[in-house]
Amino acid sequence: CSGVDMSQWREQFSVFRKRPEWAYFDNAASCQVPDPVLDTMLEYQRELHANVHRGSYQQSQHATALFESWRAQIAGFIGASADTLIFTRGTTESMNVLAESLLRPRLKAGDNVVVTLSEHHANWLPWQRVCEQVGAEFRVAGLNAAGQVEDIFAHVDSRTRLVALNHASNVMGVINPVAEICAKLRQQGVLSVVDAAQSAAQLNLDVSQLQCDALAFSGHKLYGPTGIGALYVRADVLDTMPPYQVGGGMVDMVYADHSTFHRGVQGFEAGTPNLVGAAGLAAAVEFIQGCRAKGSSAYLRALFGQLKDTIERFEWLTCLPHSDGVVPVLSVHNPDIHPRDLAVFLDQDGVSARAGRHCAQPLINKLTANGCLRFSLGVHSNAADIQRLAEGLEAWQREHKGQRQHKGQREQS
Ligand code: PMP
Repeated sequence: CSGVDMSQWREQFSVFRKRPEWAYFDNAASCQVPDPVLDTMLEYQRELHANVHRGSYQQSQHATALFESWRAQIAGFIGASADTLIFTRGTTESMNVLAESLLRPRLKAGDNVVVTLSEHHANWLPWQRVCEQVGAEFRVAGLNAAGQVEDIFAHVDSRTRLVALNHASNVMGVINPVAEICAKLRQQGVLSVVDAAQSAAQLNLDVSQLQCDALAFSGHKLYGPTGIGALYVRADVLDTMPPYQVGGGMVDMVYADHSTFHRGVQGFEAGTPNLVGAAGLAAAVEFIQGCRAKGSSAYLRALFGQLKDTIERFEWLTCLPHSDGVVPVLSVHNPDIHPRDLAVFLDQDGVSARAGRHCAQPLINKLTANGCLRFSLGVHSNAADIQRLAEGLEAWQREHKGQRQHKGQREQS
């Protein structure tokens, strides 16, 4: 077997030990969780748990120290300091925090906000809603043929308050030049927000190099649990933001006539945090760093090459723009085949891919007539998965020969 045939990480996932044949191609939606991450979560919950930032007894103090060490570890993963990293439920909640606490106080009627056409709804709807409510303009920058945002500065003017864009598209895996864009936005005094939900698992992120004002990612897209994510906000920007939610844990003093709140990240973590989730996210970061040190990036890129070569053998499928495998996501479509039909067909033989509009309706509506089928790889993926997919596509082809001829005739006419 060549290096690409065998995943050295597959055995670490209980689900693949139980179902060795399962070809799971939906990592862009949510990754499976490997044993070291689950073990850390279980150990915390079983033996180390207590509420944090509250108790004076030793177990609580220890849990607080652990929680803060996870924050520092996750912040380090993106080149940030611990006092700039807020725990959230995920990228969706992070963008809502920013829309309410960063954008709303600054936005006036007649101002504008810019996003790109390839945004996930999580990085579209929160901004759009605040714009509608305030009477500001919501602008959408288009894409070039390669799927990257095109000439975003054509949409930025003196009334632009904020630009929000994805680092990598969840549909295409195409990477936007965010460092270049954010640096220029900073020079112009425009706030920049980066959606790193699809890039955090694949790219070495460094917020000081990216020069963004805020960046968000989700635990479950980097082999961690659901319900936990991280939001980085540049320190001087964070200082200007009012709390998003209020409640226990984030207050300083509470009186009948007024209350005061903690400054910094703790002011954004009302209520008891998702401690076991934070344990899992820190362990997931460690897992990814371990994978990278053992060559997972090159492995995934090579495997992506195999995936692409395989799919290109089926001329009835058209690939959307994609990366060179750095973000291993490949979406395909055919106007005569509903992607859900193909997804259900493939799944009968244990090939699980995601069909639909992928929470990116504006992009999909522009690129395809009926949605697309997305294949996304994880470190457990291997050549056997791709072989299984090839067999599934061949079986579909045999069963739907007439339909394909119909399409060929239609194209000729
Ligand atoms: N942005 C992108 C690019 C995504 O891929 C996703 C998840 N599909 C999100 C935002 C939302 O993340 P979550 O569902 O974890 O909040």
